[in-house]
Amino acid sequence: MDDCLFCKIVSGKIPSDRVFEDEEVYAFRDINPQAPTHVLIIPKRHIPSAAALTGDDAAVCGRLVVVAARIAQECGMADRGFRLVLNSGEDGGQSVGHLHLHLLGGRKLGWPPG
Ligand code: 5GP
Ligand code: ZN
Repeated sequence: MDDCLFCKIVSGKIPSDRVFEDEEVYAFRDINPQAPTHVLIIPKRHIPSAAALTGDDAAVCGRLVVVAARIAQECGMADRGFRLVLNSGEDGGQSVGHLHLHLLGGRKLGWPPG
């Protein structure tokens, strides 16, 4: 996807603060953090949103969550807790059209979300 911001981050055309990378997944710090730790975990393959997921995406989605949990452990957030958020579509507050899992932690997070 030539015009996708996060595809450009995966390819290195746009710089990012990388936290983790493997064959399928890329993780980097959010440019506008909403918590002391705010990391985005994304599939390298372009998937537009959670609404577009199919059974073929099950493995990579599982990998996103496992990578997020590992980063949370490495950041020392496993004991106190953290939040994983997947915004989808306009009502869900999705602003970038490439699937991304937010990992938020390092402070007490409010609920319900706005
Ligand atoms: P969404 O609102 O779609 O759930 O989340 C998109 C996230 O991407 C936002 O938290 C926003 O701060 C982050 N973001 C947008 N553009 C960039 C960028 O160029 N670099 C990084 N690292 N994060 C970005
Ligand atoms: Zn993309």
